[in-house]
Amino acid sequence: MRIDWQGARDVKAVYGPLIEGELNSSVIERDRTSTPISHDLISKFAQLGLYKYHLPKSWCGLGQGYAAWGQVLEKIGYLSVDASFPFLISVRMSFITALLALERDDVNDQYINDLVEGRRGGAFAYTENADAFTFTSCAVRDKDIDYFVLNGVKEIVTGAETADVFMVFVRSNTLDVQVFLVRADDPGVVVLPRIMLGCRSTGISSLSLNNVRLHKSRLLVASDGLSFAQRYFLNCRRSLQTTLFLGRARAVIEAAVDYVHRTVRNQQRLIDFQHVQAVVGEMYILLESARAFVYHALLRQDLGASDPYWDPVSSSAKYQAVEAVNKIVSMALSITGGWGYTENSGLGRAQRDFASLIAGADPQEKLKVDLGIYKIHELEMQEQRKYQQELKE
Ligand SMILES: Cc1cc2nc3c(=O)[nH]c(=O)nc-3n(C[C@H](O)[C@H](O)[C@H](O)COP(=O)(O)OP(=O)(O)OC[C@H]3O[C@@H](n4cnc5c(N)ncnc54)[C@H](O)[C@@H]3O)c2cc1C
Repeated sequence: MRIDWQGARDVKAVYGPLIEGELNSSVIERDRTSTPISHDLISKFAQLGLYKYHLPKSWCGLGQGYAAWGQVLEKIGYLSVDASFPFLISVRMSFITALLALERDDVNDQYINDLVEGRRGGAFAYTENADAFTFTSCAVRDKDIDYFVLNGVKEIVTGAETADVFMVFVRSNTLDVQVFLVRADDPGVVVLPRIMLGCRSTGISSLSLNNVRLHKSRLLVASDGLSFAQRYFLNCRRSLQTTLFLGRARAVIEAAVDYVHRTVRNQQRLIDFQHVQAVVGEMYILLESARAFVYHALLRQDLGASDPYWDPVSSSAKYQAVEAVNKIVSMALSITGGWGYTENSGLGRAQRDFASLIAGADPQEKLKVDLGIYKIHELEMQEQRKYQQELKE
């Protein structure tokens, strides 16, 4: 697989008219009003095969790996001035693959085709304002033991406003984490749209569960839901979801270069100032080094060489890519003056969107702590093994 940027012509040939006509032309209004991208629009993309790349062949997909899917998301991120679109698509696709991983024929028969065709959408309701081992959202057995009753609140759920089904992670009677399939139309489910800093068209909302009574067939993971979350939601998505922001960051660089090309100060085009050239060079270095790292992490995932539960390379790549895109947009603003600050430039929106992954998919600062702990532990274990080996000899 070539990771050098080849342009986005192949993706544009398929989805270009929809991206231009239905996403780019209305982005400012959608962002201002936090209007979510509709099922109708997603269905149009789905009909052209958007959910097929990463879908297993057994479900009539192309069975492409994380890296190839990341390339598609990167190209859509480059073409769509609304980063919310590929972000939402990436979540919806991950929901499909997480559901398939459960190998539940009853669930798959009921939902997968609708999800793949964009008639329905899924969302992950995992985090809450607490550590995962102190969740207050809980499931208790009903008097009728074939049923559970769920209560709790998940404050930030991407795509919830338009989602029909949720994977909800709650504490069980035994303090373990269980995963349930909850439908938006289950009695007691309340979805409240939220206005966030960025990624406003993804339909981020809170999800409240008020005595939601579910048949036991809705229990997807009976124990160790935390491992399931890491394996099929958090860890495997961590570097993948940066690809779309890397695509948008490339477009931001191009927009900034276009501006400095056509802007004259002190009888010189801005592009001819060496300082401006150096800023462009640095943005390019940030972009390509982040891309190299992210695709390295994704290819390792495809080869099965990564840790499926918590991969330090993938986490480092997410960290690096998020730092890079946020720096790129800030540098773009530094060379585009007042124009960059206007709504029409799209740079401000990109800056707000890029900030989403400072907290999302594990906060940047927390990743550094976790990576430090991981590495220190690994080195300590190596030392111990060496010491024990020496004792044996
Ligand atoms: C755009 C966006 C989309 C999201 N979508 C979803 C979704 O679809 N589903 C879902 O379930 N959740 C979602 N979330 C929630 C997100 O996953 C959480 O916000 C994230 O995991 C961080 O959890 P927290 O907010 O409780 O922060 P915490 O993890 O509590 O961190 C709070 C602050 O403390 C710092 N911190 C935490 N631990 C340490 C430590 N050990 N040492 C030093 N500093 C520390 C962090 O850096 C952070 O700045 C989304 C969030 C965003 C921003």
